Amino acid sequence: MAVRQFEAESKRLLDMMIHSIYSKREVFLRELISNASDAMDKMYYRALTDESITFDQSDYYIKISTDKDHRTLTITDNGIGMTKEELEQNLGTIAKSGSLAFKKDNEIKDGFDIIGQFGVGFYAAFMVADKVSVTSRAVDSDQAYHWYSEGAEGFTIEEATKDDVGTTITLTIKASTEDDDFEQFLDPRQLQTIVKTYSDFIRYPIKMDLTEEKLKEGTEDEYETIVEEKTVNSMVPIWKKNKAELTDDDYKNFYQEKHFGYDDPLTHVHVSVDGNIRYQAILYVPETAPYNYYSQEFEKGLELYSNGVLIKNKAPELLPDYFSFVKGLVDSEDLSLNISREMLQHDRQLKLIEKNLVKKIKQELKKLLMNDREKYETFFKAFGRQLKYGVYSDFGQNKDTLKDLLLFYSSTEEKLVTLAEYVERMKEDQTYIYYATGESHARIERLPQTEIVRDKGYEILYFTDDIDEFAIKMLLNYDEKEFKSVSSGDLGFEDDQAEEKTASEEDQAIFDQMKEILKGKVSDVRLSKRLKTHPVCLSNEGDISIEMEKVLSMMPENQGVKAEKVLEINADHDIFKSLKQASQSNEDMMETYTNVLYNQALLIEGLPVEDPVSYANDVWKVMK
Ligand code: ADP
Ligand code: MG
Repeated sequence: MAVRQFEAESKRLLDMMIHSIYSKREVFLRELISNASDAMDKMYYRALTDESITFDQSDYYIKISTDKDHRTLTITDNGIGMTKEELEQNLGTIAKSGSLAFKKDNEIKDGFDIIGQFGVGFYAAFMVADKVSVTSRAVDSDQAYHWYSEGAEGFTIEEATKDDVGTTITLTIKASTEDDDFEQFLDPRQLQTIVKTYSDFIRYPIKMDLTEEKLKEGTEDEYETIVEEKTVNSMVPIWKKNKAELTDDDYKNFYQEKHFGYDDPLTHVHVSVDGNIRYQAILYVPETAPYNYYSQEFEKGLELYSNGVLIKNKAPELLPDYFSFVKGLVDSEDLSLNISREMLQHDRQLKLIEKNLVKKIKQELKKLLMNDREKYETFFKAFGRQLKYGVYSDFGQNKDTLKDLLLFYSSTEEKLVTLAEYVERMKEDQTYIYYATGESHARIERLPQTEIVRDKGYEILYFTDDIDEFAIKMLLNYDEKEFKSVSSGDLGFEDDQAEEKTASEEDQAIFDQMKEILKGKVSDVRLSKRLKTHPVCLSNEGDISIEMEKVLSMMPENQGVKAEKVLEINADHDIFKSLKQASQSNEDMMETYTNVLYNQALLIEGLPVEDPVSYANDVWKVMK
């Protein structure tokens, strides 16, 4: 019989399964059980549309049995089964969900905790078995097939006989070594514990033959060994259990069992609502963003159940975009089962559930922010950008939900602070919330524009994310305090002498001359009220800031959007004095000086010099 090769990716993964020193090998069982449960759910679906199939939940079960002599562990289900093609495809290639992550993690080394990275499903069997055999008969077929593999070399498929529809998977358990105990996977009691830990909520019975020493009837001290088939899982889904009965570990295990993420969740919320619409939900905030989180590829959504039956893997309508990082599920007995996709989208009930979930998530995040700042910052580093997008999009309708969840780096605190904390610390004579934009904290720190604000002892928020300033423009104000960029034309200091400062007639004439030289580049040249040690800087007028111009110019559709720039001059600076001299003696030199100063202001701002060659020429000219 021809041995078929696994797909390249699958083969690598398999190799890792076989050789990895993964500490939690027992999760293979949860993978196989969850596949069996899925297969029965699929039957259930079929029955909804196919009249020839009747589905009576009590007929469905998973059976686990062991044979110590042959070292086999068998898992049987009477789910939908697999055709020959399905055996070939489903078991010959890695599940799609896994393969995505796999591609990204190409650099993973052998022995890495790969299960911790993503759900590998069926292949996990090879962590504990050196032979895996699958016999399956699909629901529409009379012919069964047998799939067999001893690992990375490949697999075979041949015809087989099987009386009932469903799948039987037989693992030949590896021999134990000094370091590795595989015997536990042949011991019904230990398997029972594994099932309890990882698969307790599976809604179909998981049956095992368990032996028990029982007092012989009619005797007082004679015992006999009785084998009894028992259901070992409680079949109550975790979300239907009482919160008080559950531990953090239960929630964590469930997160991993569902492959919600490859990390540990930062926090979870368990919701149980008994109002107009009855539903339960378990929501998780992950610790790290999935690798594709900030890309088009990422799909948000919660699992949606109708009274314990999964009806949608990812229901996006249950989460607004700004909370798209939340993982988890919603189960409602009030949802009709055969709702089509379109109907789901318009479902008023789902909208109501979403609204309530948003409230719960917000509460949970606020709680985290108040009680565990460190954890919250971990969260914010991963997902803060998404919250800021949320403030920016939808015309700022979400801003009330989100504004108190934002963090920004503060010049005085040298750490992330909330807007509330900023306002709380504002100086008595301070009207505005000041911010500065730039590529990094270090760069912002040295911006000439921050000088005078800093001098006043005002705190400055550092905006290093592209989205920051856009989001803040949507917010308009916080606690009735408006935001102000340190680069804005008017800094809004209250009765300040600097504000009164006006240019002398003589200086103003020079500014006018400079403005003429820089025509089309700046809208004005004027005396700076904010510069102290630096000779020049740019500020801006109007709604588009210089930082926004930078961001917008990176998008093809926004080419040509320009900030209205003002060149500010420090008239007390020696450099200006040189320029003044030049203006009297040498008009050509005056133009050179002006261009040099303008270009330097651009550079300080992180903007490109428009004509580098002529800028270099100008500098050389000045140096001569
Ligand atoms: P996933 O469950 O994430 O799809 P798996 O590797 O666990 O990935 O399984 C791969 C596929 O094999 C499943 O999607 C399913 O189609 C099929 N499969 C596995 N086990 C069974 C089973 N017991 N009955 C029917 N189909 C199964
Ligand atoms: Mg699976």
